[in-house]
Amino acid sequence: MQEKKKLSLIAKIGVGFIIGLILGFIIGPMAPNSPFIADIVIPLLQLVGNIFLALLKMLIVPLVFSSLIMGASSIGDPKVLGRIGVKTVAFYLGTTVVAIAIGLVLGNIIQPGVGMAIEGAKAAAKEPETVFNVILNIFPANPLKALVEGVMLQVIVFALFLGVAATLIGEKGRAFLEFNSSLAEVMFKVTAIVMKTAPYGIFALIAVTAAKYGPAVLAPFAKVIFAVYLGCFLQVVIVYSGLITGIVHKSPLWFLRGVREAMLAAFVTRTSAGVLPISMNNVQNNLGVSEDVSAFVLPLGATINMDGTAIYEGICALFVAQAFGIDLSFGAQLGILMTATLASIGTAGVPGAGLIMLSMVLVSAGLPIEGMALVAGIDAVLDMARTCVNVTGDMCVSTVIAKTEGEKL
Ligand code: ASP
Repeated sequence: MQEKKKLSLIAKIGVGFIIGLILGFIIGPMAPNSPFIADIVIPLLQLVGNIFLALLKMLIVPLVFSSLIMGASSIGDPKVLGRIGVKTVAFYLGTTVVAIAIGLVLGNIIQPGVGMAIEGAKAAAKEPETVFNVILNIFPANPLKALVEGVMLQVIVFALFLGVAATLIGEKGRAFLEFNSSLAEVMFKVTAIVMKTAPYGIFALIAVTAAKYGPAVLAPFAKVIFAVYLGCFLQVVIVYSGLITGIVHKSPLWFLRGVREAMLAAFVTRTSAGVLPISMNNVQNNLGVSEDVSAFVLPLGATINMDGTAIYEGICALFVAQAFGIDLSFGAQLGILMTATLASIGTAGVPGAGLIMLSMVLVSAGLPIEGMALVAGIDAVLDMARTCVNVTGDMCVSTVIAKTEGEKL
């Protein structure tokens, strides 16, 4: 019964995606000549999509906050928590460095920018974050502000403090923990309810994107799109499949089947923070990762682990260099590897954030920041693949950590 229900949800999401895609491709070219489509149909689809996104966002802070306090308190021992933390960060960094390397290798082989016409490129670059600010922003000077504004790293840090402290004071912390664990259960249920709306939200979002971009706009950028998509594919097939086979001792298909709803939702919504409720639901219910581990590993990953973005930064840096006819030495490419790692850590899990961080990578590699404008036009299409990989990477590492902590998967 349970299995049948799950199948029908992912099937519905898949159908919504395909119908939305076809609809978008049909109405896109009609929109300029049809006020009905341009002023009513597309805005209506956008509204449905935005409602779905709003529902996902509604879940994030209370879900992460309550389940993380629960996780921290049930792990209890700060030493164990520290061990899981160190392992998680190590896996996140390792997978990110491999991702950028894949991006750089593909950028050198495919050479997506060679022969690009770059006239008229103008970038509206925003100020990138400095590394020091990224570090300072981990600490919640005002935790309520962090909760209200959904600053995830700060929410994570505050929740960890609360969970550990409540455990340390024993009996006196019990009422707080009981209330919190009930809140977490309620949030799990709200998540399950919201997920039922996913087929409609995904249908609407992909229809709007397809209508806006259409297949024809993509032609001049075919190579860079191909390179990013290939890199993302390789990251899943080589790195994640390798980790699942080598450490979890399960087949990659078992993993991918378990997380496909979150992958598809990430692809369409382009926000790893937004998809967090779905990825938590997927690894817990389909793969058997505990709430304790997933509540800690996934929110952290949605904030600092962006393998897809890392691949994209690597390829796009080379793309820009090639388009502007600038030769990058091996040393310069190593520099890109480092800044792109930092950039991917500092990237927020929201649509388009990677494009802003690309400016930091370009500037520190001495490349023209105008290069951003080349990428900006097709960024949404690249964002879909990279967000999908960002989320898949988080779910893969959460499964690996669960296994190394002796959980039965
Ligand atoms: N949209 C991506 C994410 O949410 C971040 C990015 O733009 O690279 O994971």
